Amino acid sequence: MTTTTDLPVLDHYVGGAASQGTSTRTGPVYDPALGEQTKSVRLASADDVDAAVAVAKAAFAGPRGWGSSSTAKRQQVMFAFRELVNARKGELAAILTSEHGKVLSDAAGEVARGLEVVEFACGMPHLSKGSYSENVSTDVDVYSLKQALGVVGIISPFNFPAMVPMWFFPIAIATGNTVVLKPSEKDPSVANWMAELLTEAGLPDGVFNVVHGDKEAVDALLVHPDVASISFVGSTLIARYVYETGTSHGKRVQALGGAKNHMLVLPDADLDLVADAAVNAGFGSAGERCMAVSVVLAIDSIADEVVSRVRMRMDKLVTGDGRGSADMGPLITREHRDKVAGYLDVATTDGADLVVDGRDVVADGAADGFWLGPTLVDKVPTTSTVYTDEIFGPVLSVVRVASYDEGLALINGSPYGNGTAIFTNDGGAARRFQREVEVGMVGINVPIPVPVAYHSFGGWKASLFGDAKAYGTHGVDFFTREKAITSRWPDPSHGGINLGFPQNE
Ligand code: NAD
Repeated sequence: MTTTTDLPVLDHYVGGAASQGTSTRTGPVYDPALGEQTKSVRLASADDVDAAVAVAKAAFAGPRGWGSSSTAKRQQVMFAFRELVNARKGELAAILTSEHGKVLSDAAGEVARGLEVVEFACGMPHLSKGSYSENVSTDVDVYSLKQALGVVGIISPFNFPAMVPMWFFPIAIATGNTVVLKPSEKDPSVANWMAELLTEAGLPDGVFNVVHGDKEAVDALLVHPDVASISFVGSTLIARYVYETGTSHGKRVQALGGAKNHMLVLPDADLDLVADAAVNAGFGSAGERCMAVSVVLAIDSIADEVVSRVRMRMDKLVTGDGRGSADMGPLITREHRDKVAGYLDVATTDGADLVVDGRDVVADGAADGFWLGPTLVDKVPTTSTVYTDEIFGPVLSVVRVASYDEGLALINGSPYGNGTAIFTNDGGAARRFQREVEVGMVGINVPIPVPVAYHSFGGWKASLFGDAKAYGTHGVDFFTREKAITSRWPDPSHGGINLGFPQNE
């Protein structure tokens, strides 16, 4: 019998090579479809974080450092990285599925969305250009430059172990920063794989480092004097903590938090489109997406029909090992599976109708996998924690509303504001919704409105702390600081001494 001490241990990746660090703490990494621990991951101490930051700082500094590298060199590395990931994306998707559990096609989709940001970063010489104003006063020119921050920290969640780091590091690296990434300790291997590929793409050692760990590593990054910024994605509780701690230590922080995304269905919508969308967005990746639809707000007159069409589609879904032909994989850990399943008891206690109970699932996979099948709960009271909590699992709630206004009020009353969608064939209603809804990303007949790489990603309210969204122009601005230079190359006949404050002439 294999004991956990026989299992491989995943190291950190610092200075272009695997590193064991000094901490002896480790955490378990599971294959969720097997329900078995497959490896351990090192959990860094503050000293280990310190060592990685020192390497990143040295890689940034000096005339030969990454901070002074040419835009052409950075662009070459990004293009090479893009080609390597593209050529080996199947390998990356397989690693991802083995630790996260999402089905292979979904893992491949995650990699593809991450690659879009790499492609965006390939165009950085254009995006990071400064501006120039000639002769703002006699013989005086003003120009602005965008310069790198230095060492930047990235802290990512378990649910997109490839894509979320890729929201940030391509832009950070392409603008001349050096990086310390602290991935989720639940599915950490993808980060090392990407680090090795960056090295293969020609990135100098120390520019991209991976430190594995938990709260201890996060805290060390948040207070480290040589870390200039933090890009965080995770749950709202931790996002708020990261934002407050990081900013109080003088850092620029963008902290993306949790979500509870509503889909409002008006009576004139195409109900087959609605049902397809609700199933895809509710159960894709087992609902472990920050942009998952978790509440369908159905106007009373069509609610029965929506529930019936969603249910018909759910009957055909196969839950199982993502390496096979299943539509939906397991949840990330046994604890999380049990926590999500616990909401089904709450639903019944709170008077909701449990239309499809995912606990009855017969999974196409190992007996010990962390299975919970797609679940549909109708007539969920808005006072129930099934409605108010981010469940982060395959549980789709239906809340019946009398009108557009009642639906809108519920969405705007939520503490979260990540994503939302309206389904209708009425352009005027859709247009009104996009203006009135207090949410950062809005879909019109699109259930998961994740913006493409050149439009920034981020929610409102408790879904994003800080002023900068991820990627797009927000990303470029976040990872650079602007310097404005006023220069004067006077004509030999300059104006002599004048103690007054400069005035434009
Ligand atoms: P999490 O908050 O538990 O963990 C996120 C990161 O924070 C991990 O790297 C983890 O190691 C670290 N962390 C955990 N507890 C900590 C603590 N007490 N102190 C310091 N650091 C800590 O989130 P998760 O479970 O990995 O991911 C799921 C959550 O992420 C969901 O809430 C989801 O909505 C959210 N998410 C949001 C977005 C978005 O764009 N808004 C995207 C993806 C995921």
